[in-house]
Amino acid sequence: MKTSKQQRIAIIGGGASGIFAALRCAEVAKGKKINIDIRVFETTKRFLKKVRVSGGGRCNVTHHIFEVNNFCLNYPRGRKELLSPFQNFQAANTVEWFEERGVKLKHEGDGRMFPISDSSETIIDCFMQEARKYKIKLLTKMDVKSLKKLDDGKIFLFINDDESFIADSVLIATGSMPNGYKLARNLGHSTTEIAPSLFTFKIEDVILENLAGISFSQATLTLKIDGAKPFTQKGPLLITHWGLSGPALLKLSAWAAREMMHTNYKAKITVNWLGIENLNDGEKLLSTIKVKNTKTSVGKAYPNELTKRFWLQLLVKCEILKEKNWSEISKKELKLIMKNLFICELDVIGKSRFKEEFVECGGINLKEISFKTMESKICPGLYFSGEVMDIDGITGGFNFQSAWTSGWIAGNNLPLKK
Ligand SMILES: Cc1cc2nc3c(=O)[nH]c(=O)nc-3n(C[C@H](O)[C@H](O)[C@H](O)COP(=O)(O)OP(=O)(O)OC[C@H]3O[C@@H](n4cnc5c(N)ncnc54)[C@H](O)[C@@H]3O)c2cc1C
Repeated sequence: MKTSKQQRIAIIGGGASGIFAALRCAEVAKGKKINIDIRVFETTKRFLKKVRVSGGGRCNVTHHIFEVNNFCLNYPRGRKELLSPFQNFQAANTVEWFEERGVKLKHEGDGRMFPISDSSETIIDCFMQEARKYKIKLLTKMDVKSLKKLDDGKIFLFINDDESFIADSVLIATGSMPNGYKLARNLGHSTTEIAPSLFTFKIEDVILENLAGISFSQATLTLKIDGAKPFTQKGPLLITHWGLSGPALLKLSAWAAREMMHTNYKAKITVNWLGIENLNDGEKLLSTIKVKNTKTSVGKAYPNELTKRFWLQLLVKCEILKEKNWSEISKKELKLIMKNLFICELDVIGKSRFKEEFVECGGINLKEISFKTMESKICPGLYFSGEVMDIDGITGGFNFQSAWTSGWIAGNNLPLKK
């Protein structure tokens, strides 16, 4: 009996996307009875490092939005390109994929999805078990240094100092490691500007002093950066010991990632702490408090939605004594309170990495990739998936979903069609 020639697949990067692609590739090859040798080259000692630490060790696998148009709205970069891949493999498919392999996911109030075990090890164990089932070769301490396209169409991998491998097709799934971009450039690709995304803002202002830990459920934020259009976000906001954080602020940082880098993280942010857009409504709220509390000190009567500590600090910023009665508050002082409550302008003077979940924005130019297959439009046989591409999402499981989806599509196409 004639045996088919074995196809050799190289996956560079044993992170979320590379491993998922390897599993899908093996499954497809098995289904089509393609004789295949899949090798995952990982430069470090361990696979799936980010999966392990993600979501505070719980792994925020995806987000509970099963309508792809809405899902795409959560990608500052890659939103248009991901639309068609998500038609093929979206968050609902991720849930199904894990369930079929015995891992149940649950979703929290804010939409984030985790394994019911609340442990990222469950996800890693599932992947490792699948990899063993398909006999995928998982190789650690294998640093792919460069790539070369051979005349016969195959791709030569230079590994460590003295090893090599010749592959029929190659997937670059190196995440945000700079060497991954270099590998792609070796084969003619270009990269867009790389910038950190998902960071918190450093702000020094009296209104934030000693208030670390205080949160607001529906703040509106407007970020003004020199030379850019303003960015706006609404949602939960948190005061930290050195500025502002929380979901709304992290989203803002993702949308404005490049512009913020260009100004060295100097900008002006306007905070509407209660998210009351209509200033007339805001004025009414304060006037009602004033009228109802003429004999009460201003430090004791304040909007229900605010904490006392924040209100007292706001009065410090306005230079209004908290012992003063509401009846003594002048129009000018009322205006000052209004300004600091609804259009509080603060100077952003720097950034810090968000400890839980950060990504790089920028990567392989999306115009150079076919999103039907994840194959390079420049170098046939070369594929991309995950964060190495110029795609990034906001917090909440969107980055992993793009890693699974692009890995799944690459996995479908890595075995060559004969
Ligand atoms: C602390 C933290 C927590 C996070 N939590 C979440 C979360 O809960 N939910 C979410 O959606 N996103 C989260 N993210 C983002 C998410 O982890 C990434 O978007 C995702 O891991 C990207 O997958 P990837 O496979 O593209 O890259 P990675 O997971 O980074 O994997 C790339 C792999 O390639 C290897 N590699 C690189 N270059 C080479 C080379 N030349 N040769 C061989 N191997 C190489 C790297 O060592 C790495 O193992 C978090 C990120 C961080 C840093």
